[in-house]
Amino acid sequence: MTDGQHRENGSAGPHLANGSAAPDPASRPDERQAHFRPVECDRCGAVVQVAKFSPQHTSVQWSQPSVRACAEFSARVSAGEQTALIDSCASLRRSIDHAVLQGSVEVFPP
Ligand SMILES: [Zn+2]
Repeated sequence: MTDGQHRENGSAGPHLANGSAAPDPASRPDERQAHFRPVECDRCGAVVQVAKFSPQHTSVQWSQPSVRACAEFSARVSAGEQTALIDSCASLRRSIDHAVLQGSVEVFPP
């Protein structure tokens, strides 16, 4: 699954999800960021920021502590996969689906 949103994960680039020092009024990052909701993995307790832009398009932002908290995710990373290519572990995907069904993650078309 390719998703431009995931590229920002993993590497400590200047464009981190939180605490961006250079707000860009043109792209209105605050507004976009406001659509992210924290979802906790019911198995490993990792908390990720989730936004849905369409029923098929789910954007998941992993923080470093979440990557370490999730056994499945960190196992895949240590096996050589890039964090940018992993959207979630299986149980987190279920937790996200559940959050969407409950309405705590709403769909916001971009
Ligand atoms: Zn997990």
